[in-house]
Amino acid sequence: MGYALNEDQRRIQDLVRRVAHERVASRAAAIDATAEYPQDMFDLLKDLGLFTLPFPAEYGGSGSLLSACVAVEELGRVCYNTAYLLIVQWTPFGAIMAGGSEEQKRRYLPDLASGDLRAAFSITEPQSGSDVARIQTRASRCEDGYRISGGKIWCTNASLADFVVVAAKTGDQDRTGSINFFIVERGTPGFIVGRKEEKMGARGIPSHAIFFDDVFVPEKQRLGPEGQGFKIVMQALNASRPLIGARAVGLAQGALDHTAAFVKGRSAFGQSIADYQGVRWMLADMAIQIEAARGLVYRAAASADAGITGKELATIAAIAKCFATDAAMQVATDAVQLFGASGISNDFPINRYFRDAKVLQIVEGTNQIQRNIIARNLMAD
Ligand SMILES: Cc1cc2nc3c(=O)[nH]c(=O)nc-3n(C[C@H](O)[C@H](O)[C@H](O)COP(=O)(O)OP(=O)(O)OC[C@H]3O[C@@H](n4cnc5c(N)ncnc54)[C@H](O)[C@@H]3O)c2cc1C
Repeated sequence: MGYALNEDQRRIQDLVRRVAHERVASRAAAIDATAEYPQDMFDLLKDLGLFTLPFPAEYGGSGSLLSACVAVEELGRVCYNTAYLLIVQWTPFGAIMAGGSEEQKRRYLPDLASGDLRAAFSITEPQSGSDVARIQTRASRCEDGYRISGGKIWCTNASLADFVVVAAKTGDQDRTGSINFFIVERGTPGFIVGRKEEKMGARGIPSHAIFFDDVFVPEKQRLGPEGQGFKIVMQALNASRPLIGARAVGLAQGALDHTAAFVKGRSAFGQSIADYQGVRWMLADMAIQIEAARGLVYRAAASADAGITGKELATIAAIAKCFATDAAMQVATDAVQLFGASGISNDFPINRYFRDAKVLQIVEGTNQIQRNIIARNLMAD
């Protein structure tokens, strides 16, 4: 599987790298420190048309996961939160693209692609994160649709979203076949956005509890056939895991950029610390980890673009997510070490990279869950 960037992907890389350097980097520290939603960054991405990237050509996109990864990587190199704006928009897009009816696609996708609509995606509940089958939010059949009752946590973007794609149980059993996704629009009676999480990382994009108090949702708002929609959507989202890996590659590259500059300007025992072999080998190991992670992420994204599906794609996507996010954590940890006390100080950028790196090992399926997927596929006949 080849995965060299084509001309179009190089053009996207050059554009986003320049914009990240000139307009995003200077905002990163303030977004993290204040934990205020970066509306200016959202508007910038919207003006540049970046939300369209993974959408098919009919929505103005490149239809390429690799192109989307390249943009996420370049933004994540300078500002985790700005890169997150893209991903938070693309998860509900992926869900509707995979499981939505033609009517749902026409209604939501063009405005998601342009950035005129914002959305959120919600599965996690207080008692069930990794163990999705145990969610308790219920969608009970009624005339013309469903009534949804229950509560969710960690719904990122909920307070800004025009609609939420939410998982609820239509059956009684603790298995994913009993779960369906529903599109619930903001303002629907009984749908309430609750408390905002106080987070150590990913601070600029809010995550909230949300509540459903007997919320009526018409049948046409369900994604996919009852009992099958969950599987269809989750298979599609598993395939988009390289995006999380791309965010990790960008984060790690950014941490290395800062660290290489720092060590050149710092002296100890009468010489630059950049001249100590112990320091240089740490930098080399960081670069090795990043390049290996980038190769895996590009390969997984290129596999998706080449139409590879099923277990083969799920395995390489899980490997890429797991390796890249573990690498980002290691690189960020070493970066803080090489900064010394400055690595702990909020006057320097590097502890932000460290805090954000930890989030990546947990979201979109923890790295233990990725290892479970990889091992399960290894053992399958
Ligand atoms: C910043 C942020 C944003 C988020 N945004 C969203 C969002 O928009 N929508 C949404 O639905 N959710 C969101 N989440 C929630 C996220 O998806 C969950 O936190 C994640 O799936 C893990 O679930 P949990 O926190 O309940 O951990 P648990 O599932 O309780 O796991 C706790 C620990 O046990 C380990 N573990 C669990 N099961 C196994 C197993 N079988 N084998 C080995 N180890 C296991 C886990 O890996 C973890 O280390 C977000 C989380 C964060 C931090």
